[in-house]
This record gives sequence, C-alpha cells and structure tokens, in this order.
Amino acid sequence: MTDQAKTVKWKPCEICGKPVAYLRADKKYCPACAKDRAREMARLSKLKKRHERPKFCNCCGARLDGEEVRFCRYCKSLTPAQRKAEREKREAKRTAPKPAYSVDQLAQLARQYRSPYNSYGKLRAYLGTTGRLPPDGYRRQGL
Ligand SMILES: [Zn+2]
Ligand SMILES: [Zn+2]
Repeated sequence: MTDQAKTVKWKPCEICGKPVAYLRADKKYCPACAKDRAREMARLSKLKKRHERPKFCNCCGARLDGEEVRFCRYCKSLTPAQRKAEREKREAKRTAPKPAYSVDQLAQLARQYRSPYNSYGKLRAYLGTTGRLPPDGYRRQGL
C-alpha cells in the first residue's frame, strides 16, 4: 500500500450516492455528476448574467440582491436623516483628493523612508489616510 492509497477516503456522491474517492475535502460528487453539475452551473450563471442587471443601493452604493429595490437592507433600516448622512459620507469619500503620486513615484519615495513607511503599501496607506507624506524625521539621510 502506498502512502497515497492510505490517504484516499470514500464518501457517497451527494447527487447519486455512488462512493467517491476524494483527497480534498471539497470533492463532493462522482466524476459523472461533477461534470453534469459544472455544466448546469455554467448554464445558470450565463442565464443569470443575461437577465440580471446589477442594481445598486441609492444610498451607500452597495450592490443589491434580487428583492431589494432602492436601498440595501442596511440602509432600509436607517431613518431618512441617517441615510442622508450615509450618502454624504460616501460622496465625500468619492470626491476626496487622491494622492498625486504614481505607482513608480511612490515606490521610489518608499525607498527614501525609514520603517514603518519603507514600503510602497505602507506609504500609500499613510498617504491615503492622512493625505500627506510621513514626517521628515522618517526620511533617510543622504537621499
Ligand atoms: Zn454521482
Ligand atoms: Zn445601502
């Protein structure tokens, strides 16, 4: 018996009940049913895509699911005043000035800073929340 054979487990196919050998926990169907299912899922998702135009919450902009009409579940539960505040918050976020640095510029800048701002991601996060570069004290000397 090889190591591999020992790890094979059997469980019934969730559709037809035939025993299925599986190595990964996510395998639930025998090959025949898996194929049928994959075909069915592909067909359904194609249908769905064709019929469903995405709708978005008038307030927070979240994508709505089938039954929701103008507002998502969360925004529906808010009072009109709260909804207005939410909408304004979103508006402010959208119109917030973006840091005027390109990816390359930021990557280059990150090399000029000391920890914790010495990587592109961290520098960008700092810029994103504060809108400016880290204090000069973090700047490396001689650059
Ligand atoms: Zn099956
Ligand atoms: Zn919403």
